Amino acid sequence: MSIQFSDDNPKAPITAPISLPEDDVEVGLRPKNLSEYIGQEKAKQNLAIFIEGAKRRNEPLDHVLLHGPPGLGKTTLAAIIASEMGVNLRKTSGPAIEKPKDLAALLTNLDENDILFIDEIHRMNRSIEEILYPAMEDRQIDIIIGQGPSAASICLELKSFTLVGATTRAGQLSSPLRDRFGIDLKLELYTPDELLQIVERSAKILGIPTEPEGAREIASRARGTPRVANRLLRRVRDFAEVTGTGVITKSAADDALTRLDIDRDGLDAIDRRLLAGIIRNYGGGPVGLETIAATINEEAITIEDVYEPYLMRQGYLTRTPRGRCATRLAYEHLGLAFTGNEQLSI
Ligand code: ADP
Repeated sequence: MSIQFSDDNPKAPITAPISLPEDDVEVGLRPKNLSEYIGQEKAKQNLAIFIEGAKRRNEPLDHVLLHGPPGLGKTTLAAIIASEMGVNLRKTSGPAIEKPKDLAALLTNLDENDILFIDEIHRMNRSIEEILYPAMEDRQIDIIIGQGPSAASICLELKSFTLVGATTRAGQLSSPLRDRFGIDLKLELYTPDELLQIVERSAKILGIPTEPEGAREIASRARGTPRVANRLLRRVRDFAEVTGTGVITKSAADDALTRLDIDRDGLDAIDRRLLAGIIRNYGGGPVGLETIAATINEEAITIEDVYEPYLMRQGYLTRTPRGRCATRLAYEHLGLAFTGNEQLSI
């Protein structure tokens, strides 16, 4: 299962944190080394030490699992690890590896200490996953040559390599796979101050004239996600160029973001529909995820991976054992009278 918005899905809103075709420009915005990578201080500090240690011992870096919502910089970090280690990066994704021989080809083509990056690793087929276990642990793979009675299994030795796996759903990884990652890094939503630095950096690279307050307005409405921040920056630039002076001031940003239906706290139409659905139909909750999904006609997985993390961080939504609840803040944000809900007595 995956997030429903796909590259050709016209439904994907501007705040969708997945990569859309218009984000191709992202490549030039990607930080190239750890010092350029803004935020995620804890993950970054630990990684810097592990990289330094591996380099000193002249060994490959231990296998790394990166997890967190889409658009937070997992792919970027994989490329940074490769460049800091001075090795090649080979990229693939869980669903792209269809057959055992696809994985065997990837693994046998790696050079000494290279990084193999598997995005959406939780979507990898279980039979393929099993080939990864001996590869990760003992640098070996067993492959079957030939067919029928003459088929034979041969064991291939691999060069040292580092697997970097990225996932939005660490909980869906099987425990044998998860246990084989020596380094487990969780990426968090970014603070507005961190996103401000990212917006200012991107504006500089793209040559977009931006006032600090304009950049701050974009940063505080970008759902804690660099990919969204960079996309909003480009859309606000369009508005500023066509309807204003071309400079992103606070009022130009506010005007553009309001036209894009992104409110003062970065909530988009789907966030608001989700909260309103819980409040109007279920008295503020608790209500199960599948029920909310059916009510607002969105995929449960999209709600869980994309909408909930931000709504929870901002204090609009809580998860309880009996379901999701809208908080008092959610009522106030939507201009509705708070009637109290069961969640408060839990
Ligand atoms: P993910 O793989 O988690 O979906 P990406 O690594 O593709 O996310 O990041 C999306 C975009 O956000 C990148 O192109 C990059 O420009 C920007 N970005 C992500 N993290 C950072 C960061 N820490 N500092 C600066 N820019 C970042």
